[in-house]
Amino acid sequence: MPKLINRIGVFTSGGDAPGMNACLRAVVRSAHEYSIAVTGILRGYEGMIEGEFSDLDARSVSNILQKGGTILKTARSDRFRTVEGRALAADNVRKHGIDALIGIGGDGTLRGASIFSREHDIPVICCPGTIDNDLFGTDQTIGFDTAINTAIDNIDRIRDTADAHDRLFLVEVMGRDAGFIALHCGIGGGAELVLIPETIQTMDEVKTCILDTMTLQSRSSIVIVAEGDELGGATQIADALKEDDRFAGIELRVCILGHTQRGGSPSASDRVLASRLGKAAVDSLVQGHRNVMVGIVNNRIRLTPSKDVWIHKKSINFDLLKLVELIR
Ligand code: ATP
Repeated sequence: MPKLINRIGVFTSGGDAPGMNACLRAVVRSAHEYSIAVTGILRGYEGMIEGEFSDLDARSVSNILQKGGTILKTARSDRFRTVEGRALAADNVRKHGIDALIGIGGDGTLRGASIFSREHDIPVICCPGTIDNDLFGTDQTIGFDTAINTAIDNIDRIRDTADAHDRLFLVEVMGRDAGFIALHCGIGGGAELVLIPETIQTMDEVKTCILDTMTLQSRSSIVIVAEGDELGGATQIADALKEDDRFAGIELRVCILGHTQRGGSPSASDRVLASRLGKAAVDSLVQGHRNVMVGIVNNRIRLTPSKDVWIHKKSINFDLLKLVELIR
């Protein structure tokens, strides 16, 4: 028989993602419906170690649904990677009468949660919050939709100037070692080529492809480069192209979209996803589930054991890559 949950601690961790606030709001208000008290933990695992706790009620999360970032703040914590750091965190959690935790973050957050809950027998449910969309067990992560919309908005602007000057642009997007953002931006932004870590392309193949599209189809071109591509980032690839005489007559520019992709008001889709996942996290705790990630697969809530999420790698849809090639 699982222990009764009287108080939940909630935190955001890892990189911030638009929609984390919407998820937090859903957690607090769903818990309220079950008469479960909620404590907010500031700055993720680091705040858990430092004892940065603050009670939250239904009104504390008013007017945050539409805000990017996270009102709980977030952090990356090296101390939480140590046994001693996690023991301090567990002491603080118990001291505040917290029976279970809900964490909103990416795969590192899940790894930490899994280890922590095994060591200290404190249940942790995670909501997938990362712009990278690289988590197994959910079709989409909180923040991904907003991030690709932001990136595509910028790519549209770059397209105007690329076209006006007949330039080649290498646009680098985020995604760590996954190509989900790049792939979706490639399709949504009409890129001529997408370079992602999940596929191996030689520099020669890349050069040939760019030269072909720039001579046969258009005098301008946009190449989307995932930051984790094995050929390097956009700057390194641009350097390699510049060394090749065949690119001598081509005006080449690099644009690294960087942190613009993380910020901003969450899209409608991210708000809905985050709200559904926040409620599902509370429901699953009440139903007695422990140490799982709540996700949505084929539009239905799915619970996946946390350790399975980081053991399995989510694969990209190769049909989408073929689509880029077909319609470029
Ligand atoms: P994003 O995908 O946005 O980067 P993330 O959750 O993957 O988010 P990380 O920095 O990788 O971000 O992880 C968040 C935190 O989780 C780390 O700062 C660390 O405190 C904790 N963490 C990650 N891996 C481990 C681990 N193996 N053991 C203990 N804690 C970990």
